[in-house]
Amino acid sequence: MRVGLLKGNGIGPEITAAMQRVIDACGIGIEWVNVPIADEAVAMYGTEVPEESIDLLRELKVAIKGPISVEKMAGRINYIRKDGTSHIYCSNNNAIRQELDCYACPRPARGIPGISGKNENVDLVVIREISEGIYAALEHRIDGDRASEAIKLITKTGAERICHYAFRYAIQNGRKKVTCAHKANAISLTDGLFLETFRRVAKEYPQIESEDLMVDATAYYLVTNPERFDVIVTMNQYGDILSDLCAGLVGSLGLGAGGNIGDNCAVFEACHGSAPDIAGKNLANPTSLILSAVMMLRHVGMPQWADLVEDSVREVLIEGKHITRDIGGSASTDEYTNAVIEKIKEKKTQINV
Ligand code: ATP
Repeated sequence: MRVGLLKGNGIGPEITAAMQRVIDACGIGIEWVNVPIADEAVAMYGTEVPEESIDLLRELKVAIKGPISVEKMAGRINYIRKDGTSHIYCSNNNAIRQELDCYACPRPARGIPGISGKNENVDLVVIREISEGIYAALEHRIDGDRASEAIKLITKTGAERICHYAFRYAIQNGRKKVTCAHKANAISLTDGLFLETFRRVAKEYPQIESEDLMVDATAYYLVTNPERFDVIVTMNQYGDILSDLCAGLVGSLGLGAGGNIGDNCAVFEACHGSAPDIAGKNLANPTSLILSAVMMLRHVGMPQWADLVEDSVREVLIEGKHITRDIGGSASTDEYTNAVIEKIKEKKTQINV
């Protein structure tokens, strides 16, 4: 099976290499196809996200991506297509998601005994809508530099497809409840449309419990009683913020896996950024990307390999002997990765996969 590999920058190349070594240790014959982005793409095509790479992703349909740095305050990427048309996106990450029509971003957070403290029993997933909302890059200055305004775009079609995705995800993954996080009391037309759509869609899935909560209350309950949550579906920016919060609840951004899912293409990536403060130092925790690869294996119908990798990762983390600095250990990226690979080899012989 061919899988696209986008190394990104910052800690991207280190954690993609670690993830690749772990998946290769399974021996399932994945052929990694390099898809240039960031610095590598600039050298080849003069732009960080060239259409050549997007075309390759469309052909491959499945890929794993390291983070790309987001230039603070830049906020506007002019994506130029080969046919001369162009589109403004708020980041390179958004350009990739939207050119591939990815709209759902599931981000699981599962506690780890010995690492997640009182949150070791947390087991939830934030499903973030990623095709619209406030990140649609519809913003402009008004009255010179005295004010700026941004448009939050919520469509009925967009809300319907993410809500259906969340309920289908719940059914497929043995989950019991979907919570919609919104702020429809204050933003009644956009968040109101999302909430109204959620309530209507929920009626089609009577076997799954549904509820809605204000996003501020959701943040409060995530910190005070996270175990009350199962699946949370929400708009783009709320999902961005809450999913980082959830990674923090279970121990580190370095544990936060995710995927950008569309009907034709899926690009799996960690929920954190490129961590420039620790890049190139062999300190990054690659768990986030390894668990994103686990999601990829499930997505392509290889659940037994997904379980093998996830169980191996969790055992190494629970043992706590070779864990990285962000979760209280002193192991380097390589030492931790080697420990996971050893565990996979051990478990492979035990279960004879
Ligand atoms: P960017 O500019 O790409 O958004 P950032 O540093 O602003 O990068 P993140 O990359 O999300 O944002 O990092 C936030 C913090 O979490 C940083 O201190 C970073 O070192 C830490 N961090 C993020 N990912 C990891 C990881 N995989 N392992 C260890 N620490 C991480």
